[in-house]
Amino acid sequence: MRDNQAIADALFPWVSSDIRSLRGRYPARPEWQVVSRIAPSPTGLFHLGGLLAAFVPYMYAHQEDGVFFFRIEDTDQERKVEWGVDFLIAGLHDFGLDPDEGRIAEGVDRGDYGPYQQSERLEFYRMMARYLIEQGRAYPCWLTTEELDEMREWQMLAKQPPGVYGEFAPWRDASTEEVLAKIASGEDCVIRLRAPYTHGERKTYPDLIRGDVTTQAPFVDTVLLKSDGFPTYHLAHLVDDWLMGTTHIIRADEWLASVPLHITLFEQAGLIPPYYAHIAPLLKSEDGKKRKLSKRKDPEADVRDLLARGYAPGGILSYLMTILDPNYEAWQNEHPESDVRDFHIDLEGLNNSGALVDEEKMRQVNREYLARLSRDELYDEAFAWASNHDADLFTLLEKGGDYIRDALNIERHTEKDPKRYVLYTDIYDQIAFFDDGIWGQRMVDVVWPEEFDRDFVATLLADYADRYDPSMDVEQWFDDLKEFGQGYGFAVNNAQFKEGWYIGKVGNLAMLLRLALTGTAQTPDLWSMMQIMGEERVKERLRKGNKG
Ligand code: GLU
Repeated sequence: MRDNQAIADALFPWVSSDIRSLRGRYPARPEWQVVSRIAPSPTGLFHLGGLLAAFVPYMYAHQEDGVFFFRIEDTDQERKVEWGVDFLIAGLHDFGLDPDEGRIAEGVDRGDYGPYQQSERLEFYRMMARYLIEQGRAYPCWLTTEELDEMREWQMLAKQPPGVYGEFAPWRDASTEEVLAKIASGEDCVIRLRAPYTHGERKTYPDLIRGDVTTQAPFVDTVLLKSDGFPTYHLAHLVDDWLMGTTHIIRADEWLASVPLHITLFEQAGLIPPYYAHIAPLLKSEDGKKRKLSKRKDPEADVRDLLARGYAPGGILSYLMTILDPNYEAWQNEHPESDVRDFHIDLEGLNNSGALVDEEKMRQVNREYLARLSRDELYDEAFAWASNHDADLFTLLEKGGDYIRDALNIERHTEKDPKRYVLYTDIYDQIAFFDDGIWGQRMVDVVWPEEFDRDFVATLLADYADRYDPSMDVEQWFDDLKEFGQGYGFAVNNAQFKEGWYIGKVGNLAMLLRLALTGTAQTPDLWSMMQIMGEERVKERLRKGNKG
């Protein structure tokens, strides 16, 4: 019989194996409470898949009145970047996905289950490693890199599955004396799981999104603790999600293959595994084929880039939900006032095969998102965006007040709402002329139609300035404009124009007003613009506009 206690004592003389009292350091969570989390690595990347891996557990935890927490997985010291933690915290905040618990600033935690950063929890992983060794569920292994390479080569030639297991795991059942002697020699070792299954044994693992998955049960003695004392992701997941009371592991699909190992780890530690749910991968269509969206290669995968290009955080979330949950779009149309976060996701009903990312659709969803916002919401969001990405828009919006807000809101939520903003980058050009200073600059270069004499136009505009009455509704106003036009030789319609007496049509007249008021030919509806500009400004621009 192997003396696991003696081995554990020799390996971890200063480490306790009392994992129950470790658990006892933390308050029990209510039985019914759903606890989910996002556990990213601070690599300085923020990609759509990562956002989705925060969004879905956030949604699920909140709809179940649960807790969504944020843990930093920084055990891979090589991939870590200095500012990675603050970057992630800010990223979640930009999307309104602030966690209820977890790391909230570099070195600062909120919540009772910390520390929420793995590099500060090394003691806990060692306790679990020691505990598993004592139970005979894990063991120290001194296989060198060369030995492992040689073994893998041999396994390949012999068409055996690769890895350390069974006969390829010499330290698994080495005698107590042999192990103690090796420990005494001071050589570095790793701690491996003593896998409880053999090759060929299949088991079924439940997944809340995928349904049951039947697959090979773990038979490889996976490394749990590395020789530098850092845990592998698998051990850290077991320890952290157990101690933090996670009930639902909702994460990226790349972890689906690890579920058998993770559930086995919980079982080997005598603990109840959490529920698992794996979110479908984001795909891209290329040359008629689908492939996984690449966080490094595809620009549309980079969340920072999407934001810089004028997508709204709410638009991006709305888009992600559109490709993930087939019921979302209809729900959002029925509840235009509601935020995507109010939608109720059904894990079982989520897309489970792969969600195709298509920028045209993303633009369309962003447009719908911007169209749903109230005047002041749009103003606040555009202002926040401009403060990071667009100095001209920032200067324009900074003046604030109802005038610029109404300008921004022109024709929105009306019957003929043109939903003219697809991205935040569309705003500036469409409304800049409302600003008197910018209008003045634009009038210098305005291109007037050549067929009308400039003096004639100046007289006409000044005359119309005297006549303009902002109290008229759009129909009265247009009838009045036609009447006014008649006096200057503008026909009211095509039929009249064909009579041959006229110098133009009412449309040409409207264009002259438009140019004088805005300095550009492409504008929103004339009557609506004049309503927003107000009587005085309209009259002043009409009188001054033609002078250039
Ligand atoms: N650190 C892992 C990742 O960034 C987290 C996996 C998990 O959520 O369990 O993908």
